[in-house]
Amino acid sequence: MDLELKNKVVVVTGGAKGIGEGIALAFAEEGALVAALDRDEPTLRRLAHRAVAEGWSLTGFPLDLRDESAVSAAFGEIERRFGGIDILVNNAGGNDAVGLHHSPAEFVASLERNLVHYFTCAHFALPALKKSRGAIVNISSKTALTGQGGTSGYAAAKGAINGLTREWAADLAQHGIRVNCVLPAEVITPMYEQWLAKAPDPAAARRQLDLTIPLGRRTTTIREVADLVVFVASSRASHLTGQILCVDGGYIHLDRALTAPVTHLKKSE
Ligand code: NAP
Repeated sequence: MDLELKNKVVVVTGGAKGIGEGIALAFAEEGALVAALDRDEPTLRRLAHRAVAEGWSLTGFPLDLRDESAVSAAFGEIERRFGGIDILVNNAGGNDAVGLHHSPAEFVASLERNLVHYFTCAHFALPALKKSRGAIVNISSKTALTGQGGTSGYAAAKGAINGLTREWAADLAQHGIRVNCVLPAEVITPMYEQWLAKAPDPAAARRQLDLTIPLGRRTTTIREVADLVVFVASSRASHLTGQILCVDGGYIHLDRALTAPVTHLKKSE
């Protein structure tokens, strides 16, 4: 299937590592002109070199997404350099475990890290997206649907991202702009590895994690998330808007009985 992404201008936030890196590379592989926005400058530089070696187009824009003037300048520069913007992927964020015992100021700071820049980027991309009749894909998290405990800020941000997906899809349909959300549950990325490393027995925690996922009893790969994002953003998904798509091996929605037979599996093995 030709995804018709050649020379489309794609902005990916948090594009240096983890899921964002996978998304940036998957678009570049399709012939898109990718702008990766991230604060990890050395990793961005390595990624851009890797893309050049493959014959792909990927340009790094080192910045902190909480810096509104830096984000505004980056979007201006992307439009000047590439002639427009076709797709925005809001991806940057991380589970920062800001729970009810934290202060209200720490809760607001978590929203700054996980939510506000999704709005900032959509705001600055909007004039270009109206011209291209483009698409936005927001990356959310299972915590928006399931909760997790101990992470009020992150869960609130991700719930709001689901809400904004519907709101922006409704708002922007008149301009032919599609807005969708891809919602992962368990994906091994640098963020996830840091979290697993804190467990008393990281290898056992990893095995236990795999067993909670009905399809294949394994975590979702970065590539599986990236491929869905690329398709959803492409013109081949031309009548898809306002959707929240869970790419999670059935983790969120399938019957709990499917994960309960861990003991049954052990017996028969
Ligand atoms: P990751 O491995 O930590 O990568 C995220 C990248 O974004 C990092 O390079 C990070 O830089 C950058 N970043 C974060 N905040 C930024 C900011 N304010 N300005 C500029 N760059 C920033 O995270 P990931 O696991 O790939 O997660 C990506 C998205 O998927 C997040 O929205 C996350 O909530 C969502 N998600 C992930 C999982 C999972 O299992 N991994 C599950 C559900 C949802 P630093 O390294 O400097 O922070």
